[in-house]
Amino acid sequence: MQKTIIWDLDNTLYFETEEYKNKLNEVTAKAAIKDFNIPLDIQTATEKVKESYLTYRDGLEIFAKEYKIPHKKLYISYHNYKSDLISMIEPYPGLLEQLKSLKCPQFVFSTSSRDICEKILKHIGLYDFFKERFYSVEDFDVYKKNESTNVYQKLCETIGKKPQDCIFVDDSYSNLNFAKQTGMSTVRIYYRNNSAKDMSFIDSAYKGITECIIGLKKDYDC
Ligand SMILES: [Mg+2]
Repeated sequence: MQKTIIWDLDNTLYFETEEYKNKLNEVTAKAAIKDFNIPLDIQTATEKVKESYLTYRDGLEIFAKEYKIPHKKLYISYHNYKSDLISMIEPYPGLLEQLKSLKCPQFVFSTSSRDICEKILKHIGLYDFFKERFYSVEDFDVYKKNESTNVYQKLCETIGKKPQDCIFVDDSYSNLNFAKQTGMSTVRIYYRNNSAKDMSFIDSAYKGITECIIGLKKDYDC
């Protein structure tokens, strides 16, 4: 059976540098302070974002919990600020050709908002390739991919594929856990070292996008 690849977008189809990640944390803090009047200075709020990632694998959750702000509102506000950072992303040279060399159908499924996905895909030169084949959690009325299997099931229904026939590729292992529970094969992209190698819900791990594409061809006949 021909497999279908579902790609994560952020830090998978482009690399998030430390500088970019720091900026993301900063704009998350800025959104919380400016749009929701959270009484913290930018530095303290940025530390909270980091804490939130460590605790909840999500940068907004801590503000939603501690200040009782609806997650959806934080999500929308954060993405308004994230938009300004897209120009910092350095596209991978030749990625489009590498993706085209895979024989599997390919989709994108992202935690970023639909609007941001579209802007990023355009910026990294993959918009035409993934046009009408990219989905945001927003499309399923949720704001995370690491909360339940539900959103993965809905995604499969939407694209008309069985989870068993899908390979989900993500840099974030908390997402892969739910993809695996849905029945998908799971592939993790890592960069420095494979910090999740003992996690049984990850079927394969490859270092960086190029190794990943080679691995998908060799190990999954894609
Ligand atoms: Mg990611």
